[in-house]
Amino acid sequence: MNEQETIFHKIIRKEIQADILYEDELCLAFRDVNPVSPSHILIIPKKTIPSLKEIEAEDKELLGHMLLCCSEIAREQNIADEGYRVVINTGENGCQSVFQLHMHLLGGRKMTWPPG
Ligand code: AMP
Repeated sequence: MNEQETIFHKIIRKEIQADILYEDELCLAFRDVNPVSPSHILIIPKKTIPSLKEIEAEDKELLGHMLLCCSEIAREQNIADEGYRVVINTGENGCQSVFQLHMHLLGGRKMTWPPG
C-alpha cells in the first residue's frame, strides 16, 4: 500500500461508504463518522496532501476553495447564522489521526475556548 494512502482516499474513490454532502473536481465533503457536535462535516482535497505541514504555494487556490466550501455547506446545513468552527488538526500535538488534510466543520452547539 502507498504510504500516503488513507481511509479518506478510499472514500474519494468510493471504495468505502460515506455520507457525502458535496463533491467537485477539487474536494469532497462528508459527515464525520464519529461526530463531536450536532453538525460535524469533513472537507478534504482530492489531491494527496498529508497535512497542513505539506502544503505548497501552488495549493493556495485549493485551500481557499475548501474554505469557500465550508462557508457554503455551513449555510446549507443551517448552522451559519449561529456560528461554527473550522479546525485543521495538524501532526501529533494537533491530534491529527488521518493523514490526508481535512477541515472539520463543527456546528450546532456552542463551542468552548480554549480547545482541549
Ligand atoms: P483528525 O483526528 O483531525 O485526523 O480527524 C479525523 C476524523 O476522521 C475523526 O473525526 C474521525 O471520526 C473521522 N473519520 C475516520 N474515519 C472516518 C470515516 N470512514 N468516515 C468518516 N469520518 C471518519
